[in-house]
Amino acid sequence: NLEQGPEGPETPIQVVLRVRPMSAAELRRGEQSVLHCSGTRTLQVGPPPHSPKNTYREDASHTPAVRSFSCTVFTFGQTGSGKTYTLTGPPPQGEGVPVPPSLAGITQRTFAWLLDRVQHLGAPVTLHASYLEIYNEQVRDLLSLGAPRPLPVRWNKTRGFYVEHLRVVEFGSLGALMELLQMGLSRRRSSAHTMNQASSRSHALLTLYISHQTMPPVDTGEPPAGGKLCFVDLAGSEKVTATGSRGELMIEANSINRSLLALGHCISLLLDPQRKQNHIPFRDSKLTKLLADSLGGRGVTLMVACVSPSAQCLPETLSTLRYASRAQ
Ligand code: ADP
Ligand code: MG
Repeated sequence: NLEQGPEGPETPIQVVLRVRPMSAAELRRGEQSVLHCSGTRTLQVGPPPHSPKNTYREDASHTPAVRSFSCTVFTFGQTGSGKTYTLTGPPPQGEGVPVPPSLAGITQRTFAWLLDRVQHLGAPVTLHASYLEIYNEQVRDLLSLGAPRPLPVRWNKTRGFYVEHLRVVEFGSLGALMELLQMGLSRRRSSAHTMNQASSRSHALLTLYISHQTMPPVDTGEPPAGGKLCFVDLAGSEKVTATGSRGELMIEANSINRSLLALGHCISLLLDPQRKQNHIPFRDSKLTKLLADSLGGRGVTLMVACVSPSAQCLPETLSTLRYASRAQ
């Protein structure tokens, strides 16, 4: 049964925290590390002594969300906190130089696991991938053959929300998937930003479809049979004032904040045990529309909050931790 892993349903949303190491630049500037992990479940913020006020306990169960064939992984945090690194690992060192498996990102690891599982089950399956970004509430296809145009998000009864004319590419090996990923990554929109030159101002959604059918699961009017793995590299969550954004950057920041707020809102409603009605406001942003079936369905969701250990990043780190605790 490809719709659900053999282990069955798990906690719907798990939250883990990743603290990246101090960067060479932070060390050069003499910045101090203010995050201390004690064990795998407790994070202490600031210099000792630590009171309950500056101690965070994360739901650090490391059960991989990929146990099911339907899963969504988000990385969340300020620009430079390690979101892209967590999902895709370090950038390739050169043509044909493989990234050591110990440094591989969640996407590579999931895919390796998936191939193993599929072989184990002996089921003939077809794998497809799509990769898009949402920038200023516009969807762009990162794998499009020509220059990417904004694509409409539509809804119908059988498919739910979907992106019309999105290119869905068949692939069969980890190498082929990594090529698609690198192609998409290099096309992601970035703009000069006072905080980080190559800051990612868009949300990127990589989706892997596992299907029994040989036709691409696109524009057929049918939901794909099988499973769907969604990897979401969210835009930097830093506040507008922290980065000195103006004009065009202000519009960017507003649409980023809006979709991150909408996402946080949907997640907390989904997790609320007191929830009376079934209404989740997925329609509030393109991001939540496109994640509606992943979040609201029977798959599992893993949220990775990414933070820098540096004292300079502490205000943003605390805001990331707050967002993460809200989703717990
Ligand atoms: P973001 O996508 O959140 O803006 P990146 O993933 O681009 O951040 O990471 C910022 C920098 O820190 C990159 O140079 C990246 O290689 C490095 N980095 C991030 N996480 C780690 C990690 N866990 N170990 C080593 N280097 C990391
Ligand atoms: Mg990034």
